[in-house]
Amino acid sequence: MPKVYNWQLGRNMYYPYQEKHPRWQFAFVFNINRCIACQTCTMACKSTWTFSKGQEYMWWNNVETKPYGGYPQSWDIKLLEMLDQAHQKAGRQAVWDPGQGDGEQQPYGVYEGMTVFEAARHADKREEVAVGYEPSEDEWRFPNIYEDTATGSRDQKESFNLESTALPAHHTWFFYLQRICNHCTYPACLSACPRGAIYKRPEDGIVLIDQKRCRGYRKCVMQCPYKKPMFRANTRVSEKCIACYPRIEGGDPLTEGEPMETRCMTACVGKIRLQGLVRLEDDGAWAEDRQNPLYFLIKVAKVALPLYPQFGTEPNGYYIPPRWAPRPYLRQMFGPGVDVALEAYTFPSRELMAVLQLFRATQRIVFRYEIIEGEKVFERTANGRTWSMYNDTIIGFSKSGKEVARVSVEEPIFIRPDVHSNLV
Ligand code: SF4
Ligand code: SF4
Ligand code: SF4
Repeated sequence: MPKVYNWQLGRNMYYPYQEKHPRWQFAFVFNINRCIACQTCTMACKSTWTFSKGQEYMWWNNVETKPYGGYPQSWDIKLLEMLDQAHQKAGRQAVWDPGQGDGEQQPYGVYEGMTVFEAARHADKREEVAVGYEPSEDEWRFPNIYEDTATGSRDQKESFNLESTALPAHHTWFFYLQRICNHCTYPACLSACPRGAIYKRPEDGIVLIDQKRCRGYRKCVMQCPYKKPMFRANTRVSEKCIACYPRIEGGDPLTEGEPMETRCMTACVGKIRLQGLVRLEDDGAWAEDRQNPLYFLIKVAKVALPLYPQFGTEPNGYYIPPRWAPRPYLRQMFGPGVDVALEAYTFPSRELMAVLQLFRATQRIVFRYEIIEGEKVFERTANGRTWSMYNDTIIGFSKSGKEVARVSVEEPIFIRPDVHSNLV
């Protein structure tokens, strides 16, 4: 019975295959607070990879509105309900013990409930490696159904909310959730495939479906809890996000061989996305890499969290949670690290403030950063805490060590000359 270590759950868990890890892992951070749901990322992916016949309803990248929306419709509510039923049947609770957290190995404590793999095993469903379902055709119709639909206000469900509201949680709220494949450490899609057609690349941890081996059994569609593999009816095989791997390999002429961020990342208008590669040890732990922006955001500042870590696939997509949504909802979605993450985002440290400026500062992947300290430019007091802002400058370096970004915390002001060249 193979056991693997899942650091997001702080414990060993059941997975059908032996543990084996890539040298680098594709990972990303999305800052939910900044997204405007313009869907530029969605269209960047579609116009690159899924514009052909049979792919009309295929959105490898989508941005959905929470709490009501989802692509496919209600995917997460259905999964949570299935997991809940499994726990009730087993007489167990899907709870976390945050008290057991010890930093690196168990940053969010220990998840004491069952993952999608463990729930299927407990139910003795031999034909399934993970709890899951196959969405109906209707459920794939809209990439952002219930767009901008907010929750009703407290005690005023049918009327306008005339009450003023304040942080930490608004009575009326919604937020956008940006989604691509998480290129999971323990992919449910891969373990579900009876053809062995899905593999995780040893060089960068990207999860791909071999189009020649796939026979369209749709087990991956059924058992990926995030619902990111999709079936293409005219070719009768499944497809999914390929993490724009030619760019990660440095194959785009624009970056002259340097690894480049993906299409959906670089197109982001709201500058909410930062993507990169993190170095792994042989046992899958993240090698200490203090100056890698992703390592800093996730492991040091702890401001970005995995999506539904309780599913157990160890997703490699991380989110800075929204400040205004109710905490219980966010804890269910991102685990018990939510309060620490929101505190870090509300009162960012000097270093975090600088690293946040790297979002969309360059198309090349930043492997290392340095900070040059600047003057104090602002101070405020909120909730009894004084916070200061410094005009530090952050410099990002590519894989080969070239400077690829230089951004300051305060945006520089340029004054145009009186006479413009087009007036002469
Ligand atoms: S491009 Fe960026 S801001 Fe626009 S929807 Fe996508 S993630 Fe959000
Ligand atoms: S998100 Fe789904 S499709 Fe992507 S690697 Fe994880 S299990 Fe597979
Ligand atoms: S990483 Fe590339 S393939 Fe994946 S969703 Fe983004 S643009 Fe599409």
